[in-house]
Amino acid sequence: MANPVNVLLVIDMLNDFMDPGGALYCGDAARKIIPAVRSLIDRFTAEKNPVIYLCDAHDQKDREFELFSPHAVAGTWGAEIIPQLRPPERSIVLAKTRFSAFYKTDLDRVLASVQPQEVWLSGVCTSICIMDTAGDLRNRDYSAVVPVDAVADFDPEYHAFALKRMERVYGVRLTRVSA
Ligand SMILES: [Zn+2]
Repeated sequence: MANPVNVLLVIDMLNDFMDPGGALYCGDAARKIIPAVRSLIDRFTAEKNPVIYLCDAHDQKDREFELFSPHAVAGTWGAEIIPQLRPPERSIVLAKTRFSAFYKTDLDRVLASVQPQEVWLSGVCTSICIMDTAGDLRNRDYSAVVPVDAVADFDPEYHAFALKRMERVYGVRLTRVSA
């Protein structure tokens, strides 16, 4: 029997969210998680566990832009993964257009083929894409783990509430990258 597989999701670590010059910059709290996310990517890669990047890649006229200013338009600098977190060779990069990483992506199929013991979530924003994806993991009976120092939100209150809600409502296990 092979060792259990854990999967790491790296969500929306893109120039438009993470760079101060980006269209929807999430702020300094978001930049602070970069080293923790980097170390998770390195750890999972060294353990030969799958690393899956989920990246906003919007159409220019996406209706999400009625709620948020235009960001991460497919093919632009803003939609690129930040240079500090360039995907290792074996990682999977999936484009998404909505908050949940499952919506119209291959994530369902990839996870079904891997049958992970745990799915770890990292990236931005805690109260949006991280929480919606955690909810969809719960709907599929996957065990989700959120390292609290590897997720961030532009709103600190939303961040704290989302962590609490994910733990209590979705049964997410909260942990830290740096023990
Ligand atoms: Zn978006």
